[in-house]
Amino acid sequence: MKKIQLTTKIFIGLILGIIVGLLLQGNPQIAKTYISPFGTLFLNMIKMIIVPLVFSSLIVGAASIGDPKSLGRIGGKTLVYFLVTTAFAVIIGLILGFVLNPGAGLSIPVDASQEAAEMPSLIDTLLNIIPANPLKGLVDGNILQIIAFALFLGVACTFLPKEKSEPFEKFFESLAEVMYKVTAIVMSFAPIGVFALIVPVVSNYGIDVLKPLSLVIISVYIGCILHAVLVYSSAVKMFANMSPVKFFKGIAPAAITAFSTSSSSGTLPITISSAKENLGVPDKIASFVLPLGATINMDGTALYQGVCALFIAQVYGIELGISQILIIILTATLGSIGTAGVPGAGLIMLTLVLQSVGLPLEGLVLIAGVDRILDMARTCVNVVGDASCAVVVSATEKELVDEKSN
Ligand code: ASP
Repeated sequence: MKKIQLTTKIFIGLILGIIVGLLLQGNPQIAKTYISPFGTLFLNMIKMIIVPLVFSSLIVGAASIGDPKSLGRIGGKTLVYFLVTTAFAVIIGLILGFVLNPGAGLSIPVDASQEAAEMPSLIDTLLNIIPANPLKGLVDGNILQIIAFALFLGVACTFLPKEKSEPFEKFFESLAEVMYKVTAIVMSFAPIGVFALIVPVVSNYGIDVLKPLSLVIISVYIGCILHAVLVYSSAVKMFANMSPVKFFKGIAPAAITAFSTSSSSGTLPITISSAKENLGVPDKIASFVLPLGATINMDGTALYQGVCALFIAQVYGIELGISQILIIILTATLGSIGTAGVPGAGLIMLTLVLQSVGLPLEGLVLIAGVDRILDMARTCVNVVGDASCAVVVSATEKELVDEKSN
């Protein structure tokens, strides 16, 4: 209920921002001096969350894989499914970004003082994933290094006796919870943040800016639908011989909740009950795959990052080479593991995707104004993706309960 209200407030912030931006069109200086600092404050709060949020939620996610021996096979299948579908999602996002070209109608020069960072080469990025000094990786906010280090820590926990790893896991569980709360608090400022971010943009570029943004929204929504229809339908049909209609009908309660709350973690109880009751996923698999999925599997988020990265490159007139595209796929796929299942987390992670290929972070300002609308769709896909994995893994383990099938 509260979350829906927040969405409404964000919409109001957005609309008011557009109106005020249009009114200030002759005087963009006023917007820049008096309004845009609040937007900067909001973006700084978002950036403040990234490192502790990703680090803690990833350690918890990796550690929750559980006993590596007994869960080895199911865990392995789950991870492969998560990674493959996520990579598909980024690629669909990138293709839509290329085809629909949402940034075409808008051109913003890269701020000379904030010259885009140098684009790293693919091989450097790959070599750099393992941090020689993990603390430096944390301090620098190097996301791939943070992910790698957190995965090592989380996986190592699963090999240790409970009494040895428990205090460590509990600490990070608690840190992750605290960071979810911090994210929620920061997001409660989103209506003001969105207002303050969109006013300077509209006052500078006029109503023209809205067309590319609506194209971003359209691209993400089309991408989400395509991904669900193509990837999940074929997965449940192929591996579980389940009709896609039955699958989507069964998971609908969770999908609708995800759409309105923008939180996979918040939706988790409903995802679990829908998967068990409507799709025949057994308890053992539901209770492993779905919480893990809500923490680390974010297809919708990865897809959105693909679209947004291209959009920002287009707006700032930056050509992306093939190795940059590969880095985006890699960062968005791995980054989605570290995305918390809470509202707005994907926007935070987008900064990392942009950083990884040296795209200007100010591009975030454009997206931030409409992020909530995008969050609703991507969270929906995130949750449906988790459920599709639970169905596929159950079927390949021959554990899918069949009595309720068509
Ligand atoms: N809100 C999304 C989720 O909970 C994460 C994101 O912001 O992309 O799944």
